[in-house]
Amino acid sequence: MRRIYLDHAATTPVNPEVIAAMLPYFHNNFGNPSSVHGFGREARKAVDEAREKVAKAIGADVREIVFTSGGTEADNLAIQGIVLAKQDKGKHIVTSAIEHHAVIDTCGFLGTQGFEVTYLPVDEYGLVTPADVLAAIRPDTILITIMHANNEMGTVQPIAEIGKIARAHGITFHTDAVQSIGSIPVDVNELNVDLLSLSAHKFYGPKGIGVLYIRKGTKIKPVTHGGGQERKYRPGTENHASIVGLGKAIELATTNLVEKQSKIRMLRHRLIAGLLAIPEVKLNGHPEQRLSGNVNVSIRYVEGESLILSLDMKGVAVSSGSACTSGSLDPSHVLLAMGLSHEEAHGSLRLTLGHDNTEEEVDYVLSVLPEIIERLRKMSPLYSQRYSIPVRT
Ligand SMILES: *Cc1c(COP(=O)(O)O)cnc(C)c1O
Repeated sequence: MRRIYLDHAATTPVNPEVIAAMLPYFHNNFGNPSSVHGFGREARKAVDEAREKVAKAIGADVREIVFTSGGTEADNLAIQGIVLAKQDKGKHIVTSAIEHHAVIDTCGFLGTQGFEVTYLPVDEYGLVTPADVLAAIRPDTILITIMHANNEMGTVQPIAEIGKIARAHGITFHTDAVQSIGSIPVDVNELNVDLLSLSAHKFYGPKGIGVLYIRKGTKIKPVTHGGGQERKYRPGTENHASIVGLGKAIELATTNLVEKQSKIRMLRHRLIAGLLAIPEVKLNGHPEQRLSGNVNVSIRYVEGESLILSLDMKGVAVSSGSACTSGSLDPSHVLLAMGLSHEEAHGSLRLTLGHDNTEEEVDYVLSVLPEIIERLRKMSPLYSQRYSIPVRT
């Protein structure tokens, strides 16, 4: 059976060039980067070179790059590290209602530890309003954390503008840019951020490796303790093979960004047009101001997980913001925050395109989807009610 992968927001395949770059570091160049001998120096050099690539890709200095075990750890280190360093100055954090769980659950935890969190609302497109950020700032606000691009419906936030507001008030500003790198330009100075999280497996690198950018002069404390690695911000023997992979992946992801994304954007237009031609399908999120590969629709009278399973049987991999897939009783907090009803959120479908997808694959998905939807709708009591012909006497 053919397999079509349309879930690139969940993870991406590792680019073969990235694998090739990593391989020597498992066996031949396996040294511990902290060792003084040749094996160690070889490993250290590889880590240093990868750090240079990351710094160059995001407009940072090498001393501002800290490797972590991924996006989740980068977000935790950013938020908890700032809180630890600044809690005597205040206990208030500003975030948005649509953050990734790595941010929103960290803030939620801090909410149980004597901190106060403001969760800013978003408009129908999932956009945070900078004026709302300004209005939420208090004398005891120590951190603002707002994501760059959303993982569910791809909305890109006005980060540079929010950063300006944060800076004018002397408040540390973090952004989770895990979804944006490789899709849109990410420059820490243009974005006016103090902290920024990345994760390699979202841009064709390996899983389990990420980055926290920490602007020089930012007051932050580590949340784990041990050796002196990563300038003590993230102790532990460096995962140097994965660091090399991340370095290669970010270099590839940020070259020819515009050309690569315009191909993906064309596929997105085709996919959206085809989906909206199906009755009672509506697009979630902004029609244009979204990541080039992101499509999110709500399909009325259908459950997201039934759609996922039916499409999976046809070899098509997608995701949904419905309850079962979010691992809780409630559907996606992101879709609800945008004002979708529970029913619309349950019937949501996310299709995220990548570099390897083709027009032909998009057409295949569009050819199998209408029958699947029709079959599932026939089982829906709401659907039969809606379309039943009134009985006349
Ligand atoms: C995937 C993702 C994360 C988590 O990254 P991991 O490396 O999987 O821990 C955090 N934030 C966003 C927006 C993501 O898409």
